[in-house]
Amino acid sequence: PQEPVKYRRVMLKISGEALMGDQGYGLHPPTVARIADEVKSVHELGVEICMVIGGGNIFRGLQGSAQGMERATADYMGMLATVMNALAMQSSLEALGLHCRVISAIRMDEVAEPYIRRRAVRHLEKQRVCIFAAGTGNPYFTTDTAATLRANEMACEAIFKGTKVDGVYDRDPVRFPDAKRFDDVTYDEVLARRLNVMDASAIALARDNNLPIIVFSLDEPGGFRGILAGRGTYTKVHG
Ligand code: UDP
Repeated sequence: PQEPVKYRRVMLKISGEALMGDQGYGLHPPTVARIADEVKSVHELGVEICMVIGGGNIFRGLQGSAQGMERATADYMGMLATVMNALAMQSSLEALGLHCRVISAIRMDEVAEPYIRRRAVRHLEKQRVCIFAAGTGNPYFTTDTAATLRANEMACEAIFKGTKVDGVYDRDPVRFPDAKRFDDVTYDEVLARRLNVMDASAIALARDNNLPIIVFSLDEPGGFRGILAGRGTYTKVHG
């Protein structure tokens, strides 16, 4: 029997580090392929999929500026890193037979489409996976904020934030085995308790537009699809 699907259009946000496997840096193609497979299994349910991938596996603006680079320049380098990750994911998705567009907030027409909102919506309607690259196109932002911005613009029903753990905990669950996972938590509580979900500007942007954030484990095979079918453990951040 067909699994029930609660969402028709979603944003999947993953960090750049999710693509590096155990390497500690850069891209690990088998890991990219594994995540592409998870995306495919959700696409098969008929769900329209947007993606934002971070760049932290290659370059982070804050790190660069800590080493003496001008912050804005370092941030642009971070945005370029997200384009590389997006292209790697596009390649893996296409190898699985999915149609996919990389849409960049910074123009580079030879490698990616420019961001034109209505055109991106059309891609989604045609079941193409849209990977939004180069963050928001602005320094001093993060890809969490970019994911929230694009999710709002694309009228996604939720952001799925794939992490190493299966939700939001009151303390770091890796360091504290007795940390408690929330089934659901409000935006305001995330901000007040500085819970590790997304950065504060992204949370505020989600809150102001009532966009739920589902935090789940990307390491769990079939986890992404399972949640869309109403199964599995995760934390829902909402109003
Ligand atoms: N970045 C930026 N503006 C944006 C999105 C990203 O300047 O709208 C830069 C910023 O320097 C950031 C880097 O791109 O450090 C990589 O993104 P992020 O740190 O969000 O990646 P993640 O931690 O998700 O891998």
